[in-house]
Amino acid sequence: MKFSNSLKLGLIGIALISVSFAANSQSINDYRQKHRNLLAKQNRVQDKIKVQEAQKYARDLYGDREINNSASNNADIYSEGWNSDKVNPYSNASIPSTKVIDVSKYAMPVKHRVVNSHFGYRKQFGRVHKGADLKANVGDTIYAAFTGKVRLTKFERNGYGFYVILRHDNGLETVYGHLSKFLVKENQYVKAGTPIALSGNTGRSTGPHLHFETRFMGVAINPEKIFDFDNGTVHRDHYTFNRNGSDNADNRQSASRGRR
Ligand SMILES: [Zn+2]
Repeated sequence: MKFSNSLKLGLIGIALISVSFAANSQSINDYRQKHRNLLAKQNRVQDKIKVQEAQKYARDLYGDREINNSASNNADIYSEGWNSDKVNPYSNASIPSTKVIDVSKYAMPVKHRVVNSHFGYRKQFGRVHKGADLKANVGDTIYAAFTGKVRLTKFERNGYGFYVILRHDNGLETVYGHLSKFLVKENQYVKAGTPIALSGNTGRSTGPHLHFETRFMGVAINPEKIFDFDNGTVHRDHYTFNRNGSDNADNRQSASRGRR
């Protein structure tokens, strides 16, 4: 085949144009892709900024109110049935059917993590053992299980012996029985892990141990449903109390009453 010079030039020109067009379209695609990536990045940044702005806005708007709410909630927690006399000061209160309780900030009440006697109905005594008996020697330090306030320190010869009841920010109360010495006073604020007493063998006790109860509005909850004593932790950050559930004492007690 023979081409005239001008035709050759023309063909070369077309070839060059198409090459350059291809190169150009390639770069357009590149550019589009880069642009899309850039937009996507910007979107992520914008989303992040939006979230931060929204959080700041919410803080500005609700911050004080949240603080006031928690203060007034605490005021409620530490006022209802607050006394240094009754083990269960909630006898006239209406107990919610369910309540999610934050147990994430906890301390183990005693260094030993051995449960010698579990929570539950005792056929031989015709009553419910409303706590868990934890291994403890006389003089072992007993710690506040959660942050809160000392509601009572008392002595009961035929029962708990020397005992402490704490009420906590999360709404629970904890009972520590058969103690030998108090390290706190009534109405004192304590943090989770604050030493509150020394263990002992006082009251109706057959040997040194800590009788430990967890209660919500007077209803004793099996402490082993909240605490994992073997591992020195809690099972979950939140415990869901069910008034009619199987974890608490009132049911078992009424069931046992029903049988008699
Ligand atoms: Zn006990």
